[in-house]
Amino acid sequence: MIPDVRAAAAHEAARRRTFAVISHPDAGKSTLTEALALHAHAITRAGAVHGKAGRRRVASDWMEMEKARGISITAAVLQFAHRGCVLNLLDTPGHADFSEDTYRVLAAVDCAVMLIDAAKGLEEQTRKLFDVCRHRGIPVITFVNKWDRPGREALQLLDEIEREFRLRPTPVTWPVGDAGNLRGLIAVRTPGQMLRYTRTLGGAQEAVEEAIPAEQAAAEEGTDWDQAVEELELLRAAGAVHDQEAFLAGRTTPVFFGAAISNIGVRLLLEAVIDLAPPPGPRELAGGGTRPVDAPFAGLVFKVQANMNPGHRDRIAFIRVCSGVFERGMTLTRAATGRPFATKYAHSLFGQDRSTVDIAYPGDVVGLVNAHSLRVGDTLYAGQAAVFPPIPSFAPEHFAVARPVDVSRSKQFRRSIAQLDEEGVVQVLVSDLRGEQAPVLAAVGPMQFEVVTARMAGEFSAPVRLEPLPYRLALATDAAGAEALGRSRIRGEALTRVRDKAQLALFRNHWQADLLQRDFPGVRLDQLIAAHG
Ligand code: GDP
Repeated sequence: MIPDVRAAAAHEAARRRTFAVISHPDAGKSTLTEALALHAHAITRAGAVHGKAGRRRVASDWMEMEKARGISITAAVLQFAHRGCVLNLLDTPGHADFSEDTYRVLAAVDCAVMLIDAAKGLEEQTRKLFDVCRHRGIPVITFVNKWDRPGREALQLLDEIEREFRLRPTPVTWPVGDAGNLRGLIAVRTPGQMLRYTRTLGGAQEAVEEAIPAEQAAAEEGTDWDQAVEELELLRAAGAVHDQEAFLAGRTTPVFFGAAISNIGVRLLLEAVIDLAPPPGPRELAGGGTRPVDAPFAGLVFKVQANMNPGHRDRIAFIRVCSGVFERGMTLTRAATGRPFATKYAHSLFGQDRSTVDIAYPGDVVGLVNAHSLRVGDTLYAGQAAVFPPIPSFAPEHFAVARPVDVSRSKQFRRSIAQLDEEGVVQVLVSDLRGEQAPVLAAVGPMQFEVVTARMAGEFSAPVRLEPLPYRLALATDAAGAEALGRSRIRGEALTRVRDKAQLALFRNHWQADLLQRDFPGVRLDQLIAAHG
């Protein structure tokens, strides 16, 4: 590459922050996203910020189902500028059932903001998503939300994070006043003052932030102030102090408190994303080694979505730029086949109001329209070849046999199932026993099945009948394991996952898997979440 293109890639990468907010539904992700965008200057707004009633809607109603449920299924990107930085906030689907998509989004970010409801603490989805962050080595910033409402004690929440996640919380802000009695925040770096938030008159939601000197805060807030100062002292003495290296290594998490709905503490979180979250860095390659950000262009396909706009039968591949400069029109190579791929139709917007993107840098996300040959996990590159490691498939917990309603459409049925598999809507499992007309669909959450049923009928005109199977657990095995399962007294089943040819053993529960292991001690049965990296 010519030197100034390399320099541009390095310079632009250094000022990019690409992150996602992970949380349990209802913790306030959409509210926080909008609050962050309010503080910063939104450059582009893509796709799905929830379409809940009364909210500003961003085009993501590509599916009737989304509208009916008021949730967003489409992951998209919000890009905004602040303090000379460009922030890419990748949205993740809000529904607990649709988590496989969320997991893939995490393959495209450099940092995650873990949003916790002050009253509920760590919830199921928070735990699952945190596991993925840990597995991928993504540093996590924590935001304790809804401090304007009664909730747990701050120290208790820190304790929960430390105990459950083996992640040391290092507060960067600390609340004055218990949850439900928010008097203000202390920024740990400037302990001599309290940040006070006052709601403005006239019904405006955003509270105004003002710094109050310590003496005044002590006089006006009394025991609330004293308690906050004492707790901070305690934390400092215990060594709960931010350490950038430990944070990047995934050993600690900087913690913020606030109330997204009133914009309290959101500015400090935004500053932290800029100051603490890592910019795009060299990315590991499948064969070992790394691709530095100033190498020629290389990008990772982390999501493929067909028919986002019912008016156009298109298929969009979302690509995270990992190295180099992306320029619309450039011809890339698809690593999986070595074939060229033209990028005439590159977009930065993935809703109805998409706009053409001409140039993108490491950390940015580009949507390629009509990308029929691309698959989730694909690498595209220019110049020197690169292959990124595949995106892991996650352990499915729900299984159903799919059959065509109309056998005369069986060819269309097979093609459509294959398409949904390529998009990653569900995992498709096959076995000789069941045959091609009865693939087993495997999902992380049962809502994925509803998406399959709706799209097969509406989009592909190949209505499908799904028959649930009683299995709840899939473990990775091999030919010997499959054979042992066939011979055993256990009512399980071995199938091959089409996506990566992995042999999976399905069981009703852990107890059955343990039984197989006891009867056949040498048999390979591995947990899936990390297995197919
Ligand atoms: P999501 O499902 O995580 O995207 O959550 P939403 O952003 O839709 O928020 C869920 C509910 O919590 C909504 O009714 C919000 O108004 C409310 N909410 C969000 N943030 C706060 C907060 O800081 N304080 C309070 N009291 N409510 C909040």
